[in-house]
Amino acid sequence: MSSIVDNAARALTCAATSFFDLLYPPSCAACGAEGSWWCADCRLAVERITADPCPRCLIIDPSHDRTTCQGSLPFAGVVVTGFYHARPLRKVIGDLKFRGVTAVRGDLAIYLRDVLEQRSAALPWAHEPSLGIQPLPLAAARERDRGFNQSALIADLIAPTWHPNAHAEDSLARISSGTPQANIEDHSLRSANVTGDFVALKRTSHAVLLVDDVVTTGSTSADAARALLGAGATRVYLFALALGA
Ligand SMILES: [Zn+2]
Ligand SMILES: [Zn+2]
Repeated sequence: MSSIVDNAARALTCAATSFFDLLYPPSCAACGAEGSWWCADCRLAVERITADPCPRCLIIDPSHDRTTCQGSLPFAGVVVTGFYHARPLRKVIGDLKFRGVTAVRGDLAIYLRDVLEQRSAALPWAHEPSLGIQPLPLAAARERDRGFNQSALIADLIAPTWHPNAHAEDSLARISSGTPQANIEDHSLRSANVTGDFVALKRTSHAVLLVDDVVTTGSTSADAARALLGAGATRVYLFALALGA
């Protein structure tokens, strides 16, 4: 029965997508070429980052000595795919964030599949027995305005393929949005585990992968990571589409 419903839902989604495509033929977010939301040429033109940044300071220089690094970021590992200064990636992230073009999701999925296939080193979280995938939350008012959280879209795309035992995590909120304390399940967390703008909503006992679109200094995602660590996360990793300057 559920497969009938699934199939019907899928057929409806396909019909809606092609109807939408008829009204608004896809054109590449980066170069404007018609035929897709992010064309293959532009996907391939992204200046990729193949060496993972230092999880304590985000430096990607291979000569950087991580054992003596003075950085204070709390991550157990960081993966970024490309440079934000690369126009094809910047334009696609801009489309996701400001124009709400969720249609680019299919092309973004192809890009992420290629990044994963071309990666030679193991992912920093590969050895974790279980991994919660937590999008960096937006302030509630901003998510209402935008209609979606672009980090959640990226998290949905990587969850099925970037770890064998990944599950969706929904353990964080931004308190700048006035999160009612009543939303926090565990009473002992109501005043504890608040770091910067973030609060952990429940206890966690496994590793968590935070997902964001762009990471620059890492200070925002570090606050989110500290809130999760305060609530029991064993380790927190960070994945971002782009590394800003
Ligand atoms: Zn293009
Ligand atoms: Zn470092």
